[in-house]
Amino acid sequence: MKPTLVIVGRPNVGKSTLFNRLTRSRSAIVADMPGVTRDRHYGHAIWGNRSLIIVDTGGFEPDVKTGLPHETVKQTLLAVDEADTVVFLLDGRQGLTSQDEIIAEQLRRTGRRICVAVNKTEGMASDAVVAEFHKLGLGNPIAISSAHGDGVADLVELALAHVPPDLDNIPEETYPKIAIVGRPNV
Ligand code: GDP
Ligand code: MG
Repeated sequence: MKPTLVIVGRPNVGKSTLFNRLTRSRSAIVADMPGVTRDRHYGHAIWGNRSLIIVDTGGFEPDVKTGLPHETVKQTLLAVDEADTVVFLLDGRQGLTSQDEIIAEQLRRTGRRICVAVNKTEGMASDAVVAEFHKLGLGNPIAISSAHGDGVADLVELALAHVPPDLDNIPEETYPKIAIVGRPNV
C-alpha cells in the first residue's frame, strides 16, 4: 500500500497548487476564486525515492453549515479518514485566522498525523513567517511555496517520516512506460 497524503485547509490557501506540484500535473483546478475544488481529487506522486497517493480536497469552510460547502467539508473529512498523513495548509501571507484555529481543532479530533505547512512564503524569512502558527499546537510548521517549490521536498520528507519506505517501493518494471518517437527537431 502506498502512503496517502491528504491536503486540507481553507479555500484559496494553495491546496490545488501544491497537489499539482507534487503530482507534477495541471490536473487540479487552480483558481483565485475560493471553493473551486468541490470533490476529492486523487493523484500519484513519485518524490525522491518515495511513491505516494496525493489527495486534493475542497477544503474546510467550517462556518457554513448547509448546502454545497457543507458537502465539501464532509468529503474532506472522508478523505482525512483515509490519510496516512494530513497536510494542513495555511496562508503565510494572510497569517493565522480564526477559521484556521477551528480547522485545527477538527483535525486534532481525527487523531491523524498532521503536518502544518505555511504556504506562499517565497521571499519571506521562514522562522518569522511560521512563528504564529506554532499556536495551533499541531507541531512545527514548515514554510513552503507551492507555486515556486521552496520547502516542498522537506514537507514530503516530514510527512512520510513515520511511514517505512519499503511500503511504497514498487518495482520500477511495474510502471507503464511511454516512448516518444519522431524525426529530429519535431
Ligand atoms: P486552493 O483553493 O487551496 O486549492 O488554492 P489554489 O491552489 O487554487 O490557489 C489559490 C491562489 O493562491 C491562486 O491564485 C494561486 O496561484 C495562489 N498560490 C498558490 N500557491 C502559492 C504560492 O506558493 N505563492 C503565492 N504567492 N501564491 C500561491
Ligand atoms: Mg483547490
